[in-house]
Amino acid sequence: MSDHDFVSGSKPIGIERGEGLSLYSTDGTEYLDAGASYACTPLGHSHPAVVDAVQEQVGKLTFVDSSFPVQSREDAYAAFVAAAPDGLEQGWFCNSGTEANEAALKFARSATGESKIIAATRSFHGRTMGSLAATWKDKYKEPYEPLAGDVEFVPYGDDEELAAAVDDETAAVILEPIQGEGGINLPPAGYLETARELTEEAGAALVFDEVQTGMGRTGSMWACQNAGVTPDVLTAAKGLGNGLPVGAVAVRDWIADGAASHNATFSGGPVVSAAVHATISTLVEEEWPAHAAEVGDYLVDELEAALGNAVREVRGEGLLVGIELKRGANRVARDLAMNHQVLALPAGRTVLRLLPPLVIDEDEADRLVEALTETVAPEAASEP
Ligand SMILES: *Cc1c(COP(=O)(O)O)cnc(C)c1O
Repeated sequence: MSDHDFVSGSKPIGIERGEGLSLYSTDGTEYLDAGASYACTPLGHSHPAVVDAVQEQVGKLTFVDSSFPVQSREDAYAAFVAAAPDGLEQGWFCNSGTEANEAALKFARSATGESKIIAATRSFHGRTMGSLAATWKDKYKEPYEPLAGDVEFVPYGDDEELAAAVDDETAAVILEPIQGEGGINLPPAGYLETARELTEEAGAALVFDEVQTGMGRTGSMWACQNAGVTPDVLTAAKGLGNGLPVGAVAVRDWIADGAASHNATFSGGPVVSAAVHATISTLVEEEWPAHAAEVGDYLVDELEAALGNAVREVRGEGLLVGIELKRGANRVARDLAMNHQVLALPAGRTVLRLLPPLVIDEDEADRLVEALTETVAPEAASEP
């Protein structure tokens, strides 16, 4: 597969269709998706509400630019702003996570008139020049330098280092409320509040990148709501259109008022807007974030009980779960796929990441635990 593609790695499983938690390969094998869709399908694959909305919209009007009011776009904006944390009253749509962060950093610079951006070690904010500059890993950055300038890194979770870095020349502090790609890292209690206080005092914008943590995954619509901290700018993407390519930023009025010229041709296109509206409405009306909290707790408890000392740690919030292994995560992900038809994701060298659709039930969570137990702790699995 994918011999034509020089940037994506190629896996030996051709996927043909998806339904709910299941992905089906071209030879008819069913796989449990606990990561293959990178948190992009919170409602599960081919959810009928999203499929219907998209099919209806694509046949009626596929595209017209964002200066024309279109019902699906109006509905998507209203749903997104209503679902955003209180205080973030305005929004803008783009096409991806990196583009949302790019906009967040631009808006922060124009609203504050400052340029310094503070980001954290082990962060991931995307692959375009600006978001990449705020991303930690040198491997992603060095071959493409110079990137956007004036970015300073501080150790994630360290209040004092953050306090020392934030000053009057700071435009933005950008943080993931829980780090995803960096290994499912939860900040210590109080860290996000500290970031809020420091940025407020300095007149800087606090940007939360909720591209991976958002859309109900951590048990609230947004992970920052679990911490009780509202940023000035929040970015979303991945699960926002249940698999369609769309990103968004939600901002406080002072950011919107200070924003300079910015836009994108496909911003809020009618078809992705239909997907966004259907996804948010279904998540909210059917209370999937609360379900994610419940099944997430169940999953973590069961994993801890089953894996015990065979792993270093099981951590996470809701259905954003990381398992710190005692060996390489790539190999474990491969064994899970080939021997147990379970698809999971590495997050760094030794962390296995589980990001199942939020509609996972306890039986499906049990299947996941069983597969992991047999792969990582076979002695435990064979006990009566
Ligand atoms: C995936 C991700 C991004 C980048 O999103 P793309 O849509 O791939 O550009 C940015 N931030 C976080 C936290 C992510 O997980």
